[in-house]
Amino acid sequence: MPTLTMKYPEVKNYVGGKFVPNTTDKFLDVISPIDGSILSKVPLSSKEDLNQAVIVAKKAFETWSKTPIKERVQVFFRYKTLLEKHMLELSQLVQEENGKTLDEARAEVEKSIELTEFACSLPQLVGGEILEVSRGVECRTDHYPIGVVACIVPFNFPSMVPNWTIPNAIALGNTMILKPSESVPLSSLRIVELLKEAGLPDGVLNIVNGDREIVEAICDHPGIEAVSFVGSTKVAKIVYARASSNYKRALALGGAKNHLIVLPDAHPSMTASNVTASMSGCAGQRCMAASAMVAVGAVDHIIEQICAEAKKVIPGENLGPVISKAAKERIENYITEAEKQGAKILVDGRNYVVKGKENGFYVGPTVIDFVTPTMSVAKEEIFGPVISIIRAKDVDEALAIENANPYGNAAAVFTQSGAMARYVIDRASAGMIGVNIGVPVPREPFSFGGWNDSKFGVGDLTGKSSIEFWTKLKKTTTKWNAEAKTNWMS
Ligand code: NAD
Repeated sequence: MPTLTMKYPEVKNYVGGKFVPNTTDKFLDVISPIDGSILSKVPLSSKEDLNQAVIVAKKAFETWSKTPIKERVQVFFRYKTLLEKHMLELSQLVQEENGKTLDEARAEVEKSIELTEFACSLPQLVGGEILEVSRGVECRTDHYPIGVVACIVPFNFPSMVPNWTIPNAIALGNTMILKPSESVPLSSLRIVELLKEAGLPDGVLNIVNGDREIVEAICDHPGIEAVSFVGSTKVAKIVYARASSNYKRALALGGAKNHLIVLPDAHPSMTASNVTASMSGCAGQRCMAASAMVAVGAVDHIIEQICAEAKKVIPGENLGPVISKAAKERIENYITEAEKQGAKILVDGRNYVVKGKENGFYVGPTVIDFVTPTMSVAKEEIFGPVISIIRAKDVDEALAIENANPYGNAAAVFTQSGAMARYVIDRASAGMIGVNIGVPVPREPFSFGGWNDSKFGVGDLTGKSSIEFWTKLKKTTTKWNAEAKTNWMS
């Protein structure tokens, strides 16, 4: 039952097309980052809760996997319309539980729509190949669904990241267990409601809430064939290793430390607005956010403009809070440590209080200059609206700094020279590169995924690449001419 202080009733698991009573007495509070109020509480489910969901998903797989793909995607055509119809409500929910601004939340739901559109196009993309390989003999390939798959998601995109996996994996014939982030479990509840309204059969998509224990149980469950994970590198490594050691297919996307290389010929105002938007958008809680800027040569005029732009980003107005009190403290500690080590804080977002939202977890945009590559702010993912400026004498030194970082999600270069852009594209060690773009997220049908410590596993999670992850290929060789002489493979 909701208590007086809770805006939403307690979160429930969703199994077999309905919300089921919680079997645990262990819950975590779901806290609004905007004002620190309690929105709901989320159950820490047991292994047995997971087991029940897997049994149901396995049963649903029998029918769903045999439903023709053209029929399966009809659900997603209807789901897309429902996402559009409920755009405002869904955006508000994302905003409430995650804290991002309404415009950012709307952009996230719009991306969910784009992801769904891609899933609707899958029948055009998954056709197998056929070839007469020998006289009267043909080989053909067909994509088959894998079975029950599980998706474990982070807090920073409560709508988009679940929709990275749900439409593609399910349209391709799998059934699924979704494990939402315990910090933002509410958007997932609306996702399953809308999919039910769109006609998704019961049991095809199930939600099991929880934290570490349930993730480990997913990695160990023999009925789950594949595990996708999106979250921090520390946990991505654990999940990838554990799921793989149990012989499951696994793809684990981790954290990031994205470097933007700014060359002296960069367009000043365009660069300044892009860098600022990249580091402060979604309060810096994007795996594609700019975290380090490598300033090559004489770019002080651009840094001045970045500071001016950063001062226009006002917490509580066009900048949301970070996810928790602990995150706010962690981010502010990074800034203080850099200052103590000799870096210069050009714009300081520490100790920010928003009037009327005194209990919210706000950090203002922060620009730190003269950061050296050995400082923690240069090396580690901060996940807040903070940019660390590292000075480099030339582009090769800048690339060496970028390459030395263990992450490899995204990198960008700001220049007006096509030749310099090409030079950086070829040498940056990251899976997604921007040229004069601060958040180089590939749009569908291009796939999303980093390199190095930002991704463990083969292929990408979205776009065309996802077809390989969510299906297995069957190769059939057929002979139709009984009269042909026996020769090689015929
Ligand atoms: P997180 O790693 O703390 O949590 C992600 C998921 O793992 C959650 O569902 C959580 O319940 C579970 N989890 C947490 N600790 C665990 C443990 N010890 N064992 C097993 N499971 C555990 O990440 P987060 O704080 O929710 O999200 C932020 C992180 O996600 C950032 O590092 C960000 O860069 C990353 N991220 C990466 C991408 C990408 O595409 N590479 C996209 C979005 C977010």
